[in-house]
Amino acid sequence: MDCLFCKIASGDIPSYKIYEDDFVIAFLDINPVSRGHTVVIPKIHIGSFTEMKPDDAARLFASVNRVTKKLLKALDAPAANVGLNNGKIAGQIVPHVHVHIIPRYENDGGGSMHSIVSAEVDTDEIEELASRIINKS
Ligand code: 5GP
Ligand code: ZN
Repeated sequence: MDCLFCKIASGDIPSYKIYEDDFVIAFLDINPVSRGHTVVIPKIHIGSFTEMKPDDAARLFASVNRVTKKLLKALDAPAANVGLNNGKIAGQIVPHVHVHIIPRYENDGGGSMHSIVSAEVDTDEIEELASRIINKS
């Protein structure tokens, strides 16, 4: 399988690995947006977050929790953004699910999750949206 992150997981492509357990590895992003920007991936190939089984997603996020705490402590960072791009339209470039941990620092000039997109949404529609989502199993 010609997958960049599978090759990083197997060690065929070198990376600065900072954490490993049974299910994941975490390594420093090659093009960091902040000091310590880290990517956490499952060792097995799964294309995207919505292709994951809930149990695998839980394991991934348990490890992300550990790595985030480790990073903040080691780098003396007071905060972090933690998230993922699920699908091409959302900005996912590498088609192997990965969670970004972006340590944040005082006055670093960055924004919150809300700065990712600011589409015009009709708030009158919110109630109908909620029932549509609830009724979709
Ligand atoms: P995406 O846009 O798919 O959510 O993020 C992919 C991330 O992987 C980007 O932040 C990018 O800088 C990082 N990346 C891409 N290729 C490599 C690589 O070969 N090594 C490392 N360490 N990071 C990579
Ligand atoms: Zn892969």
